[in-house]
Amino acid sequence: MGTVEDFRGELIQPGDPSYDEYRKVWNGSIDRRPGVIARCTGVADIRSALAYARRTGGPVAVRGGGHSFPGHSTCDGGIVLDLSLLKGIRVDPVRRTARAQAGVLLGELDRETQEYGLATPAGIVTHTGLAGLTLGGGIGWLMRKYGLTIDNLLSVDVVTAEGELLTASADTNAELFWGIRGGGGNFGVVTEFEFQLHPVGPTVYAGIVAWPMEQSPEVLRFYRDWIADVPDELTTAVVHRCLPSLPTIPSELHARPAVVVVVSYSGSVENGERVVAPLKAFAPPMLDLCTPRPFLSLQSMLDPTFPHGRWYYTRACDVDELTDEVIDIAVERGLAIDSPYSLFPIFHLGGAIARMDPDSTAYGGRSHGHAFNFVGATLGPDGFDAQREWVRESSRALEPHQAGVYVNFLTDEGSDRIRAAYGATTYDRLQALKQKYDPGNLFHLNQNIPPN
Ligand SMILES: Cc1cc2nc3c(=O)[nH]c(=O)nc-3n(C[C@H](O)[C@H](O)[C@H](O)COP(=O)(O)OP(=O)(O)OC[C@H]3O[C@@H](n4cnc5c(N)ncnc54)[C@H](O)[C@@H]3O)c2cc1C
Repeated sequence: MGTVEDFRGELIQPGDPSYDEYRKVWNGSIDRRPGVIARCTGVADIRSALAYARRTGGPVAVRGGGHSFPGHSTCDGGIVLDLSLLKGIRVDPVRRTARAQAGVLLGELDRETQEYGLATPAGIVTHTGLAGLTLGGGIGWLMRKYGLTIDNLLSVDVVTAEGELLTASADTNAELFWGIRGGGGNFGVVTEFEFQLHPVGPTVYAGIVAWPMEQSPEVLRFYRDWIADVPDELTTAVVHRCLPSLPTIPSELHARPAVVVVVSYSGSVENGERVVAPLKAFAPPMLDLCTPRPFLSLQSMLDPTFPHGRWYYTRACDVDELTDEVIDIAVERGLAIDSPYSLFPIFHLGGAIARMDPDSTAYGGRSHGHAFNFVGATLGPDGFDAQREWVRESSRALEPHQAGVYVNFLTDEGSDRIRAAYGATTYDRLQALKQKYDPGNLFHLNQNIPPN
């Protein structure tokens, strides 16, 4: 599309029968109308689409899995570089590495790597895009043992704003590689990722344990003390929510407000049972679905909670510790949930994440203890304003306790929040990198780091 003739993929424009399908993103509250959706088939198409964007001057949105909370992978007018056709995955079971292209979703990578009893740490919902998740950091059920997704990234291929194809790794274009690990899509279009894999599963000890929402104060206080010295194999999150209406949950508990601990133990099942036993014993849970299960089943367990097309609004922040004050706020915000679809996870960080040198990547939250993410959701516009207000109020309540914020959990909140996600020193270093690789800020539909 440098000219239309040299584009091998599909070009979808307003009026085309599939336009409405392809302009959709995961968050149903985002309704934008791109000038053209360029479904790229490879690097040549990406370069061609970028040449077109440079020539026409319109906005460029880059789409991996389309899961950006604020909808950064679509735009009004301009061009969407839709990378969802780029599905190649190659696992090397001997070197324990995998190469994955930019349109791969998390579940697709797990499916291939688990074939060899391997995995790389990524996120908690299988239909999330590997590209966007990785570029911001990547937290998930293996993180305390094996680190963030970026801590397992070995190299990337990236097309810059000028259309140059580069490889970045610890040895080649090292500063770009540093920035890409946390700096989002600010520096170019990543076409392919190479990851380190680890032996995981195929069976892990994992699942959910739940108590009635009213027991949130005692559950959170027990949880805080319990996780203080658990091994890195254990990654958990506490979620305040109404239990979903799923066949795995007894029908009398459907829609019941609950405080839920999601458990993932990535060592042996026997050790997992032993480590998790105190959680199950301290107060009888109303639901216990924490059992030996395939790793793939853990990875898809929360998929029904986050379907495509609902209206979502989110606000997040990290805290250093679950102090009594933070717990009181969590309890109060849990009790204030009045939608069957709204919820908030509190992820336990630390472990391998905290052991990496903070300057080794651009990710900003290595020393933080926990990540909150308030998610307000409705089936459509009805009631959305009230859920958004619950999210905003929750975020305001935690403000005095914030340690920072995970960049992939930001919505559109302005430059101060982006700076807060990285910290001043990292932000300045990212800005210098942006000046080098994208001085015209072609890639600005993201958590943007302007060149100056
Ligand atoms: C249901 C759900 C579950 C989630 N769970 C987790 C989780 O467990 N852990 C976690 O860390 N995060 C999680 N997130 C947040 C997630 O990491 C971000 O929303 C991420 O941006 C999604 O990536 P994507 O490719 O699907 O998004 P997209 O909307 O396609 O892209 C997001 C951003 O990344 C840029 N981008 C995408 N692909 C490329 C590329 N190839 N090159 C350059 N830039 C690119 C886009 O321009 C955009 O700015 C979740 C989000 C959702 C909606």
